[in-house]
Amino acid sequence: MENKIYDTAIIGSGPSALTAAIYTTRGNASTLIIGGENWGGQLMLTTLVENFPGFPDGIQGPELMANMRKQAEKFGAEFAEKNAVKFELKKSPFEIADSAGSIHKTKTIIIATGALTQWLNVPGEKELIGRGVATCAPCDAPFYRDKIVAVVGGGDSAMEEANVLTKYASKVYLMHRRDVFKASKAMQDKIFANPKIEILWNTEVKRIIGEKKVEKIEIYNNKKEIIEKLQVDGIFVAIGHKPDSDPFKGLVEMDENGFRHLSIFR
Ligand SMILES: Cc1cc2nc3c(=O)[nH]c(=O)nc-3n(C[C@H](O)[C@H](O)[C@H](O)COP(=O)(O)OP(=O)(O)OC[C@H]3O[C@@H](n4cnc5c(N)ncnc54)[C@H](O)[C@@H]3O)c2cc1C
Repeated sequence: MENKIYDTAIIGSGPSALTAAIYTTRGNASTLIIGGENWGGQLMLTTLVENFPGFPDGIQGPELMANMRKQAEKFGAEFAEKNAVKFELKKSPFEIADSAGSIHKTKTIIIATGALTQWLNVPGEKELIGRGVATCAPCDAPFYRDKIVAVVGGGDSAMEEANVLTKYASKVYLMHRRDVFKASKAMQDKIFANPKIEILWNTEVKRIIGEKKVEKIEIYNNKKEIIEKLQVDGIFVAIGHKPDSDPFKGLVEMDENGFRHLSIFR
């Protein structure tokens, strides 16, 4: 691959990258996907995806990603399961070094490195992702019909997650480690008016408990200094996302949070 000059190199291998690859290859652009050492993106972490059009019975996340990869490769995309680590954008063609030390030459680059969920990093969380630990209420709320769920966070996305969940769940605990939300007033008003939502202020999640799926969470009231266990069927972590764009700082314009329409064309 080293001496070849690709029409495009796509960095990342989540749904955005693989969709891009299907389009570039079908548009007859020679395409290299530098897909990361853990390829497939966030859907590799989940079980059933129910909202992808064309799969009325849903599809397992890793299977969906394997199909997307197969589809891109069928049209000629080449795939490197390596991280893109260094970029020479002043050269023509551009050069990208990967984590194995190979240099890839390309006329254009599509950056589709997605976002990193900010996790709570408490015991039990990682083990139960996709089995009660969730990050996307519009995706997963229907699994919690008549169930009890917790949402963690105090910003607009936590409010949105809690609101969406009330369409299905019988009860939603919205827990925030402070005694004030940073969400917009309009969002907060919606939350305060929703009878299914109980707000637990000054509350931190310390542990997520469950054998095969989430059964309970251990919470700590940092004002009263009390630890207790709360029975829930699911917990939605909504404490933020961070775009995975650090390697491109200084190379492309982005705001202070690392967001940008991340495409470079020549
Ligand atoms: C547990 C869970 C369940 C979800 N369930 C659903 C659902 O049911 N329905 C739904 O619509 N959405 C769901 N989502 C959200 C969905 O997964 C994301 O919206 C989607 O994956 C975003 O796709 P993306 O391609 O932009 O980025 P990502 O999926 O984040 O993929 C980015 C990829 O880029 C790679 N990468 C990053 N930096 C580099 C680099 N320097 N070099 C090479 N590769 C790099 C990463 O390793 C990663 O593989 C879920 C998310 C999670 C975490």
